[in-house]
Amino acid sequence: MTIRTRFAPSPTGYLHVGGARTALFSWLYARKHGGQFILRIEDTDLERSTAESVNAILEGMTWLGLEYDEGPFYQTHRFDRYKEVIKQLIEQGDAYPCYCSKDELNDMRDQQRANKEKPRYDGRCRHLTSAKPGVEPVIRFKNPTTGTVIVKDEVRGEVEFKNSELDDLVIARPDGSPTYNLTVVVDDLDMGLTHVIRGDDHLNNSPRQINIFTALKAEPPVFAHVPMILGDDGARLSKRHGAVSVMSYRDEGYLPEALLNYLVRLGWSHGDQEIFSVDEMIALFDIDSVNKSASSFNTDKLLWLNQQYIKNSTAEHVAHHLSWHMGERSIDPVTGPNLAAVVELQQERAKTLVEMADNSCFFYQAVEEFDEKAARKNLTTKSQEILEEMLQRLSALELWQAEPIHKEVKDCSVDREIGMGKVAQPIRVAITGNTISPPLDLTLELLGRERTLSAIRYAIDWIKAKSSDLDGA
Ligand code: GLU
Repeated sequence: MTIRTRFAPSPTGYLHVGGARTALFSWLYARKHGGQFILRIEDTDLERSTAESVNAILEGMTWLGLEYDEGPFYQTHRFDRYKEVIKQLIEQGDAYPCYCSKDELNDMRDQQRANKEKPRYDGRCRHLTSAKPGVEPVIRFKNPTTGTVIVKDEVRGEVEFKNSELDDLVIARPDGSPTYNLTVVVDDLDMGLTHVIRGDDHLNNSPRQINIFTALKAEPPVFAHVPMILGDDGARLSKRHGAVSVMSYRDEGYLPEALLNYLVRLGWSHGDQEIFSVDEMIALFDIDSVNKSASSFNTDKLLWLNQQYIKNSTAEHVAHHLSWHMGERSIDPVTGPNLAAVVELQQERAKTLVEMADNSCFFYQAVEEFDEKAARKNLTTKSQEILEEMLQRLSALELWQAEPIHKEVKDCSVDREIGMGKVAQPIRVAITGNTISPPLDLTLELLGRERTLSAIRYAIDWIKAKSSDLDGA
């Protein structure tokens, strides 16, 4: 048997981390077993589904690298097929038209509540022999009234539901459009899915879906309902806990592998291992080791993982993702040093790519303004002299390399009988605008002679202008 799994999002918002984790588990399961992973867009709710949301989901899947073997399929393209199945269910006596009005249904429920019964549709249209003129009916599935349905869940074990608790579900609206539980069954069946891995908010739908599978004389897939993700306060993860959309993690400077690694550990573990490459995830993942209980989202841990991935990935890989952030800052890295070489200098020093991008702009854009505090301390009339001397020394250097650059800084500090920091820091402020940079010699080598000298000149002029302002004051 070829394993076939799917991710079936409703395009009513962005791809959020909960959905992404469900997608990841389904994807891993298919990859592990050499099966196929299918993307299905459940867009039958025409009022809430949007094209932007479809794009956001596709963008999120691509960014995470969760490539699908088939799809995206769109449920709105399959209405004819759903109608065919609804017709079949009516013809074989497993579905029927219901003409009850809203008022009638409300009265029925009020009555049931008054009798201390659970409000549910009582099946009163099951036995109608003729249509009600002038009323477009809904179609209801004739759920068995006795016995039980057992959901054999890979995560939860066997979960039993009494048929008497399930009422006759609406499978088509008055305009003939199908509802969620019907479309899911038809698609899972037609698409040959062997495993349905989804959020446990759908667990209550499974017995209903199993009954429809049975009516269609088909074997239901294996189910695995994954527990939900909680915020750090124990409530279901939502916007108020911070970023929940996958793409906001890109925007905040996370590498997709770090987010995948974080998500796989939300509800799944393998001993006490924390870091998993995608290949390791595929090799080690299994549904039966998914936790039964909900897991909490912990941003600090995600940040730690991100730092590990930034440190340990190849510079080329990080540069590929960093270039997007440079673009966001209107910087085209071809205008300056090789971005992977910049990454090599910054890899150990950044927790996020946002931080890395912010601290790397100076490689591509001359600094025009200095951090106030950094300038007050380091761009003084005293450091003007040092900068002037270093301008001479660096201009005269034959070989523009870290080692001779380092030697000039050192010689200058020895001559002046001051610490090396007193020489290095004004240069650092001149080139970065701030006091943060990788080791100065390596930074200057990569920045290049021309950019370095012109930054030092600019800083000298800035100091001069400032002191003449002060003189005039
Ligand atoms: N479209 C449903 C949702 O986004 C998922 C349906 C399913 O996985 O069966 O919640």
